[in-house]
Amino acid sequence: MRPEILFPLFAPITSISGIGPRFAALFERLVGAHVLDLCWHLPNGLIDRRYSPRIAEAQPGRIATISARVLRHHPAPARGRPYRVVVGDDSGELQLVFFHARADYLEKILPEGEIRVVSGKLEVFGGGLQMSHPDHIVPESERADIQTVQPVYPLTAGLPQKVVAKAVTKAVETALAHTADFPEWLDPALQRQRGWPGWYEALRDVHRPQEAQDLEATTPVRSRLAYDELLANQLALALIRRNQTRHKGRRITGDSSLRARVLDALPFALTNSQHLVLSEIDGDMASDSRMLRLVQGDVGSGKTVVALLAMMAAVESGAQAAIMAPTEILARQHHKTIEPLARAAGVAVELLTGRDKGKGRAAVLARIASGESAIVIGTHALFQQDVAFNDLALAVIDEQHRFGVHQRLTLAEKGRGVDMLVMTATPIPRTLMLTAYGDMDVSKITEKPAGRQPIDTRTLPTDRLPEVVDGIGRALRSGTRVYWVCPLVEESELSDLAAAEDRYRELQMHFGERVGLVHGKMKAKEKDAAMAAFVAGDTSLLVATTVIEVGVDVPEASIMVIEHAERFGLAQLHQLRGRIGRGSQKSSCLLLYQGPLGEISRARLNIMRETDDGFRIAEEDLRLRGAGELLGTRQSGFPEFRLADLQVHGDLLAVARDDAQLILNKDPDLDSERGQALRVLLYLFERDAAVKYLRSG
Ligand code: ADP
Ligand code: MG
Repeated sequence: MRPEILFPLFAPITSISGIGPRFAALFERLVGAHVLDLCWHLPNGLIDRRYSPRIAEAQPGRIATISARVLRHHPAPARGRPYRVVVGDDSGELQLVFFHARADYLEKILPEGEIRVVSGKLEVFGGGLQMSHPDHIVPESERADIQTVQPVYPLTAGLPQKVVAKAVTKAVETALAHTADFPEWLDPALQRQRGWPGWYEALRDVHRPQEAQDLEATTPVRSRLAYDELLANQLALALIRRNQTRHKGRRITGDSSLRARVLDALPFALTNSQHLVLSEIDGDMASDSRMLRLVQGDVGSGKTVVALLAMMAAVESGAQAAIMAPTEILARQHHKTIEPLARAAGVAVELLTGRDKGKGRAAVLARIASGESAIVIGTHALFQQDVAFNDLALAVIDEQHRFGVHQRLTLAEKGRGVDMLVMTATPIPRTLMLTAYGDMDVSKITEKPAGRQPIDTRTLPTDRLPEVVDGIGRALRSGTRVYWVCPLVEESELSDLAAAEDRYRELQMHFGERVGLVHGKMKAKEKDAAMAAFVAGDTSLLVATTVIEVGVDVPEASIMVIEHAERFGLAQLHQLRGRIGRGSQKSSCLLLYQGPLGEISRARLNIMRETDDGFRIAEEDLRLRGAGELLGTRQSGFPEFRLADLQVHGDLLAVARDDAQLILNKDPDLDSERGQALRVLLYLFERDAAVKYLRSG
């Protein structure tokens, strides 16, 4: 349970005065629901009002705070013209300019003959110095209140800067009032060596930038807060991992009898790279610690076969294996690939998806529970509580970045010392891997099967669509199969769906019954039927949304048209394009874009034309768009950080990992004084789930 000292920080934001129901929803969208979330909303700019020159020396373009005597009022001479007030010091004069101002109000705040302090941006107009609509006009006695540096916060529509700044200030005050005597959780030596402030000072000062440099991510203040967040992440992972390895792994060694039969049934020989990766997996499975290995291989590199052969080792040893895919289509396809090969080896395979219901599902579950089905293929449906295995020894997770940590753990808990193999086509930067798994072994399939033809990729503006349709017509007549991909952007799912349906109807007018349609909103049966028709060649032009992005394998397809290619991430385009170029035919990919393209968009599409090296594409995408975008943060399964920026604080992540390891070695249940402080840290960053793995948690 969350310690009481943290309650005020997790109070709802509406407990802050000034945040009523009107603003609460906006704040919630901008920062989150708790007082603490406001504290993590860091300034990204500042307004420095410390510059206070004499008028004669004042530099236009700067923000200045100036003391001057009010000399004359010049009310607006006509509608649409400004009201002017001339103020001056012993060196010169300055005009204050007001549009649509009320004379009585200006006379009240700027009485003739009095000294006033004004603060705002200086401009030159008609040869003289002026300040329009000063941000502040106060008597000399209040000068100290305004001649300061104000933080500037990121905003969202409907929330003005003043409101956000005030809310954050209050939230930080609340937090500071309640955390003044928080115990320090950092290692004192590390803190000293890095020159980091205490938590209290860090939280206070991060909202009080004095200079532009104070806004940089590498300041001691920001680094400390980033480290706190990373340490909470790594400590939580270490706890989860330790809990997992509490149950020993098991030695899984096959006799290769089944594997040999699968290899015999394959119409091809494994690549060297596939052999190598498989031997690394075998080594892990044969050892008595639990395997946690990532297999990275570009689209089309042949990960599925490797997974199948690994699963055969588990089956040879008398146990079961499961492979989980992120989509129904992909699970079915795995089933289609694996089932005949497994049958050749005399191994029973089961498919379980969300679509299985009632009696049919009960029968499937019974075969899994009895061990009759040695290999189980499925979707998220495999996590469900009533899915029990007789003896699960190996879990394979395909396209792992689509699943969250908890889902992976749930599957691992369905067996005893389950070995875990995760597969991905998206090269994931090491730092990002660390945030999701802690340490993990990595194998790479670096070679593609021989005989693959390079894909000819071209970019074309959408207004050349008629030519494209003509070209597709010729290709269809010569027996080619074609994907036509329409984007599905989350915000406007329905209108995009409509676009795909419109395109479908339009292409149908040209090509009639040969056109099929598949999208995510279809009923499962319709989806299957559409895919099956395309696989069988009953349809030869398949209009699709990105449901076909991951893994779909139809070797006969050799042309892909992607509309609005500029809206896709590069990694996603690469995945999509990986659906073609799988057969012996020459393949081509047409990227249609809606012009005019910005410089970055143009550069991105050019990369797609230049290379089909997934690693290079991912790197460029990372460089152009950042990690979150690369993986599509929302469904990525990777943690999102509020204070840490992995591009900048990546090195701190490794420090945090070692720190976490050391902490748990010395104080396994966080009982010591520092251990208690670290518990607070875990709760502070909402790693509550990890705390439950502590003996006295
Ligand atoms: P991915 O790594 O993208 O998941 P798949 O496992 O779907 O790739 O394999 C892509 C295609 O390549 C499949 O049709 C598969 O049968 C084929 N394949 C796999 N390994 C080889 C190989 N060594 N030689 C030839 N074809 C292969
Ligand atoms: Mg695959």
